[in-house]
Amino acid sequence: MPNFVFVLNPDKQPLSPIHPAQARLLLKEKKAAVFRRYPFTIIFKEEVRQTAEPIKIKLDPGSQTTGIALVQSNQVILGAELTHRGQVISKNLTSRRQLRRGRRSRQTRYRKPRFLNRTHPLPPPRRGTEGVGWLAPSLQHRVDTTLTWVKRLIKLAPIESIAMELVRFDLQKQENPEISGAEYQYGTLYGWEVREYLLTKFNRTCQYCSAKDTPLEVEHIQPKSKGGSDRVSNLTLACHDCNQSKGNQDIQDFLKEEPDLLKRILKQAKMPTQRRKVREGWRRDGAIPQSG
Ligand SMILES: [Zn+2]
Repeated sequence: MPNFVFVLNPDKQPLSPIHPAQARLLLKEKKAAVFRRYPFTIIFKEEVRQTAEPIKIKLDPGSQTTGIALVQSNQVILGAELTHRGQVISKNLTSRRQLRRGRRSRQTRYRKPRFLNRTHPLPPPRRGTEGVGWLAPSLQHRVDTTLTWVKRLIKLAPIESIAMELVRFDLQKQENPEISGAEYQYGTLYGWEVREYLLTKFNRTCQYCSAKDTPLEVEHIQPKSKGGSDRVSNLTLACHDCNQSKGNQDIQDFLKEEPDLLKRILKQAKMPTQRRKVREGWRRDGAIPQSG
């Protein structure tokens, strides 16, 4: 299915998007003109009356790309992928920081200190408090570009609602804690999220003896003393007894009698919890929430 072409009335009111073949015919017959190249949009020369079938925007946010789909009566009429520049932004900021820092070891003429004149937006709101938020530049960029495209599409198609795919746990924050504030890296919030995540993922069961209804401890699959990391993919749940008897052993040694169980644990640790859709988002007539 090709991406449909956007159509506007002469007063720029959006009409139902049409198949590219139809658009080509309208252009050839000079009933419409090209309005925009990207995304391809045509504009009628004379007004067309039409009750457009409402369209829904579906967003699937990811750390590298955000998927955008337009759905009209259960048919995808446009699919697009937004590639984010997050990594580049983060790298550029590091580079700038290093260049500035380079002054310290360089012989330069006197300049008044200006390390205290930076303005920084307000800090991120803490859980349970209100306040203006602050996002790392690489994340803010993701919000901004997605919003830009949503606003653009709303002008080009009769969009009625927006649906956003949400993730139950923010795995990126856990796998890559430096993307958010220090509270996430070292504070209780970080530990709490990881624990809740593991309890959900492993259904509150000891992964070694399948015990339920017992206090569970977060377990490193490869022990830290043997180079195992704190990443979520290296964590599992164990009851106190199993945790004690495993101790500092490598998982391969600890479970050498039970290869099936070993295989299952290693496989499951790699698997993320299922994504699920939690909320149907903002309506066309309501305002789009302001970012920042
Ligand atoms: Zn156990």
